[in-house]
Amino acid sequence: MTRPIKQRCGARTRTGRPCRAPAWPNGRCRMHGGLSTGCRTAEGRALVTAAAKAYWARWRAERAHEAAPS
Ligand SMILES: [Zn+2]
Repeated sequence: MTRPIKQRCGARTRTGRPCRAPAWPNGRCRMHGGLSTGCRTAEGRALVTAAAKAYWARWRAERAHEAAPS
């Protein structure tokens, strides 16, 4: 995922200055919607939800194991 830096993002940041991160072809950097603006379809959201649930289920299982009372 490399590309020549032709353009800066330019979105206004919390400091009030323009974002200086390199922009993707649509003119925004990866923090400002350059690559993805999130899931747009119900299926896409379902996929993300399923993935997140699986991740947190694993995380909880591991954590419960680690933090188990002696
Ligand atoms: Zn930006």
